[in-house]
Amino acid sequence: MRIGHGFDAHRLVEGRALILGGIRIPFERGALGHSDGDALAHAIADALLGAAALEDLGSRFPDTDARWKDADSMVLLAECAKAVRGAGFAIVNLDATIVVERPKLAPFIRRMRENIAACLAADASCVGVKAKSSEGMGYTGDGTGVAVHAVALLREAIT
Ligand code: MG
Repeated sequence: MRIGHGFDAHRLVEGRALILGGIRIPFERGALGHSDGDALAHAIADALLGAAALEDLGSRFPDTDARWKDADSMVLLAECAKAVRGAGFAIVNLDATIVVERPKLAPFIRRMRENIAACLAADASCVGVKAKSSEGMGYTGDGTGVAVHAVALLREAIT
């Protein structure tokens, strides 16, 4: 068994879409980023890559590379999952916590889980996603940004 941890944060600004786990969330601001700014996909990708001790997301898809401008992060996540499987691992489960004051994400959690599971060729029962506020404190509390923490468990695949 191998455990991995991932973290990501993006600034919330006007004129951008808010996309989390590949789901477009109706909100007056969205995540600033070189890609589509999907902090949930990014944190999960780094948790998976970290568990396999592979090169991280930012090294694979650098924000200095025009190829990844406005990239669909779910496509990047699928690539990372492929790399993890290629390194001889299978995904056991993963769990993520989105920290943001607004919008309330409860209505979107199930779709996020299903979308991530489909992207990883895993069952939705292996994908946990939760949303928390930070009670008005700090950049996630004052609406400046969104942060995501994620962990992933891998097992060596039987070949
Ligand atoms: Mg990111």
